[in-house]
Amino acid sequence: MQTIWIDGRAMAKEIQADVAKRVRRLTRVPKLVVIWVGNNPASAVYVAHKQKVATEIGMQSEVLHLPETTSLDELRNQIELLNQDSNVDGILVQLPLPKHLDSDVVLETISPDKDVDGLTSFNLGRLICGQPQLMPCTPMACMRMIESVEPDLTGKLALVIGRSRLVGKPLFQMLLTKNCTVMQAHTKTENLSALSRQADLVVVATGPAGLIGVDDIKIGAIVIDVGISKQPDGSIKGDVRSDEIDGVAYAATPVPGGVGPMTVAMLMENTVKAAEMHQGIY
Ligand code: NAD
Repeated sequence: MQTIWIDGRAMAKEIQADVAKRVRRLTRVPKLVVIWVGNNPASAVYVAHKQKVATEIGMQSEVLHLPETTSLDELRNQIELLNQDSNVDGILVQLPLPKHLDSDVVLETISPDKDVDGLTSFNLGRLICGQPQLMPCTPMACMRMIESVEPDLTGKLALVIGRSRLVGKPLFQMLLTKNCTVMQAHTKTENLSALSRQADLVVVATGPAGLIGVDDIKIGAIVIDVGISKQPDGSIKGDVRSDEIDGVAYAATPVPGGVGPMTVAMLMENTVKAAEMHQGIY
């Protein structure tokens, strides 16, 4: 079997071109503000990339870089100011935050109509109730990539490995909405491999590099690798041993060049959608 390697960079470029057209149709240029607290080096790369893409597609983009010592109240006050600023369409708090800041509390401060990461309880609640508005970017990216190779997911047995608020939980809901039978695994799951070998579709969003290999998947499965782990030699590895599943999976995503670039494209799509809502178009 020749595995289809889903090209996240190419898909992201197409989506961004479409978002750029939507931006040009608006009367006011959409504005995205990324809040970055501290000096996490990985965050520096992600923040710069988001800003670059937003600018390329004609949006206004600003990074609010706050010191590591920023208190919860100071951060929430900054978010409140952005909530009230009618020129701002999207607010994204770059995660992880420094340890003294509770990300669940911080995220709740973002006004749901500007929550372009889709992580407030309001937007997650709407997703569960079948009335999604702004949905989390990484799970959306996974769904777009899955549907690019399998448009009808009805009846498929899907396994999501990972149960975070950012990826695993919302993705479970999105797969359910598409009529999959969904299993969810996590660190306390017993005999993970026995579960994953049954699944038509496996999404791995855990963190340990190379957790899943050829013995853990069914022949012909779709395998989506969300993981990003920086190796000591500077290379980036996913949660899947991709060399092993080549020729065994029906379709899979590479790392790098898979879910990562698509996540940024979804952020741009959410930001233009928020701007359209603010301008009464959506
Ligand atoms: P997280 O640490 O919040 O959650 C990880 C989840 O994986 C947990 O629910 C945990 O129970 C589960 N898990 C960990 N080890 C496991 C194991 N051995 N077996 C079964 N379950 C296990 O992480 P997250 O924010 O959900 O991110 C997961 C991974 O995806 C990380 O590598 C992160 O860097 C990456 N990520 C990538 C993108 C992207 O754009 N590509 C976006 C977000 C996160």
